[in-house]
Amino acid sequence: MNTKKNQRIFFLYWVLLAYIIAALVFWFITLNKQNREMSELKKESYAITSPKYQEKIAAIEDEKERKIKQYAGEGTTFLLVILAGAIFVYWAVRRQLKISQEQQNFMMAVTHELKTPIAIAKLNLETIQKRKLDEDQHQRLINNTLQETNRLNALCNNLLISSQIEAGGYRMEKQELDLSELLNSCVDDFTSRFPGRIFVNTSPGIIVKADPVLIQICINNLLDNALKYSPKETEVMAALSTSGGQAVLQVTDNGPGIDDKEKDKVFEKFYRLGNEATKRAKGTGLGLYLTRKILRRHRGSIRILNNPGGGSIFAVQLPAA
Ligand code: ADP
Repeated sequence: MNTKKNQRIFFLYWVLLAYIIAALVFWFITLNKQNREMSELKKESYAITSPKYQEKIAAIEDEKERKIKQYAGEGTTFLLVILAGAIFVYWAVRRQLKISQEQQNFMMAVTHELKTPIAIAKLNLETIQKRKLDEDQHQRLINNTLQETNRLNALCNNLLISSQIEAGGYRMEKQELDLSELLNSCVDDFTSRFPGRIFVNTSPGIIVKADPVLIQICINNLLDNALKYSPKETEVMAALSTSGGQAVLQVTDNGPGIDDKEKDKVFEKFYRLGNEATKRAKGTGLGLYLTRKILRRHRGSIRILNNPGGGSIFAVQLPAA
């Protein structure tokens, strides 16, 4: 429905632009014709025998040429102004349409992402309330509810922080941060939810000057993606080291990997790959966008490498303190 509406808008735009340019060309042709006719009339008004006939004819010809040049100059300026305006309007409308399309996709994704954990948690709690469960079942439901609440919490953080950062309203609190400790605690958190799947290899005491809340969001996004997009029986490795004054974090998985031509696009806002792994997993396409934004704010970087054993490596660099 939207594309049809957009097509109609652009069709109208092109028709209007063509009409304006056609009117301009018509104006130029008509003025030139009038100019020629006026010169002819003036020439006819002098008799060949009149004194200084040749000079008068030459003056009329001069005036005619001058007017042609004047019309051409005015016409070209007019055309350039119209074209510049048209390009600007085209660009602005396209940008606006893209933003509104993105917002629509986002609203759909977020509504689904917000409602699902709430529905699951509600169902789990109702089951605990209404049924007599053995200890094992009880624990399983509580764990599952906790997982869903964590997911909801992570999503809310991503949403809030990215809108705050974009609006320039987030004040970074940079401090000396023990990245090794933070990574270990994030991995511990995931280990309780995904036992036996995630491993960490970090040198102790790697310090960076950074905002702990933001860096934790980055680490969680990368670990969450690595677990989410790779098969359940595969492992994820988080390795932290230093190299050339930089703290280097690598999150390696054995998932489907990311095509070279998509490696940059996955960092765009709301961008999600169209493959099976992505369709099965839940997400909004906000995590990597926010992660790169945060890292750049810390003068750091992120890039995607191919895991030689299949899958991807997300490699982060942050200046060490
Ligand atoms: P989300 O996970 O919410 O979809 P992200 O911004 O974190 O959003 O990721 C964007 C897209 O990049 C994902 O939808 C997925 O297609 C792809 N992606 C991210 N991490 C991985 C990974 N480790 N392996 C394969 N694909 C990934």
